[in-house]
Amino acid sequence: MEEKLINILLVEDDEVDVMNVQRAFKRNKITNPLHVAVDGLDALNMLKGMNGVEKLEPLPKIVLLDINMPKMNGIELLREMRADDELKSISVFIMTTSNEESDKFEAYSLNVAGYILKPINFEKFVKAVSTLNNFWKMIELP
Ligand SMILES: [Mg+2]
Repeated sequence: MEEKLINILLVEDDEVDVMNVQRAFKRNKITNPLHVAVDGLDALNMLKGMNGVEKLEPLPKIVLLDINMPKMNGIELLREMRADDELKSISVFIMTTSNEESDKFEAYSLNVAGYILKPINFEKFVKAVSTLNNFWKMIELP
């Protein structure tokens, strides 16, 4: 069976964190197209093709989402996505440094597939991304 490579959208305002995800993808030889949005609003524009931003096609099946971002944070983006017929079924994994109970509660109330606390250590982060990759390769997505 041919392996289908789904698009992944990373929503992250911190350039170093973006680079770490890209490096972790490389280290794990993950070749899925990885798009980057710099905040929630940027992501929403890319997902809906709004405000002069070209729509991502095909739409990503997985979103890796930071919480603390300017303009529109991760929880606000999730609310917008879950209220949109085309976006509500996208699997979202939170990747954050926020250990706030309220963030976890809200994220799971908005049906995230997982809430991952970013490890400080890059090697641990590489392993976490490897686990995620094995997970989304194993499951059937809509
Ligand atoms: Mg951030």
